[in-house]
Amino acid sequence: MKPPRFDYEDPRTLPEALALLRQHGEDAKVLAGGQSLVPALNMRLTAPRLLVDLNRIPELAYIRSDGDMLAIGAMTRHAEVEHSPLVADWQPLLREAVRHVGHVQIRNRGTVGGSLAHADPAAELPAVWACLDGRFRIAGTGGVREVGPDDFFVMYYTTCIEPGEILVEVRLPRLPETAGYAFVEMARRSGDFAIVGVACVVDMGGDGAVREARIALTGVGTTPIRARGAEAVLQGERPGEKVFAEAGRKVREAVEPESDIHATAEYRRHLSDVLTRRALRLAVRQAQRGAE
Ligand code: FAD
Repeated sequence: MKPPRFDYEDPRTLPEALALLRQHGEDAKVLAGGQSLVPALNMRLTAPRLLVDLNRIPELAYIRSDGDMLAIGAMTRHAEVEHSPLVADWQPLLREAVRHVGHVQIRNRGTVGGSLAHADPAAELPAVWACLDGRFRIAGTGGVREVGPDDFFVMYYTTCIEPGEILVEVRLPRLPETAGYAFVEMARRSGDFAIVGVACVVDMGGDGAVREARIALTGVGTTPIRARGAEAVLQGERPGEKVFAEAGRKVREAVEPESDIHATAEYRRHLSDVLTRRALRLAVRQAQRGAE
């Protein structure tokens, strides 16, 4: 299929892009990697009058450390994240998750900001930002505002980004040296969107008990779901199958997935339990190996 007619602008600076968006309001959409927007245009699921292409704004593509945060420009490609030594060192959960995003070709074009702004409920990166309480910096005509995941993700394909605004930077905290991490998912074929995915980080205290656990899921709700009930089960406990099973049960009870052509709600609930236990096992093993 062919997209509906649209006008096209490719500004060279962020202020120019913001001015165009301000001028055209709800009639304009930004184009990042185009990996979700172009199919949506071709299927006529959206019909903006103007596309504002961010690909010629170099100031939006970078990966750097800022204090104890990893700062990533919105136009940074998935592939750059996947191969970045800084990401591998500071936030390997992100590297692990991004490897599950589509195929090499998708990761070469798709952007971190585009994936988060698109807010597909089956996408991997939203679960990472939910798991780690990552930050989102959104620029508008009034300056830059910063929000966390609970405010950013509103529902399916919907975030708190207003017409006229651009997601410019996203941030994650550095993984503590005492922590292990895992991202596991079930997809029908390699490269497909996950049916269910689990991101988790387990930080171990010196006494062999869990100091802090963080768990978030994709594919089981209208937004990424943070499993705070399951996290509480783990806190202060010595990790093992009994406590993992209890955490898995809590997740299964808390999620409210819907049935669709890919899986029934009951199967997704089952997967959320199984994958949570699997992710916890991996993360704890890794934290324990790091402490040896
Ligand atoms: P675009 O498609 O350009 O934009 C997507 C939406 O976000 C648009 O509405 C756009 O206006 C908005 N937007 C983009 N950037 C910004 C910004 N900076 N500020 C405000 N709004 C913005 N994703 C997964 O997570 N997991 C997968 O397994 C997966 N598999 C895929 C398989 C295929 C075959 C394809 C085609 C895509 C797949 N994707 C998958 C999607 C891919 O990750 C895209 O990169 C991502 O969804 C959108 O990023 P993009 O840069 O291409 O954004």
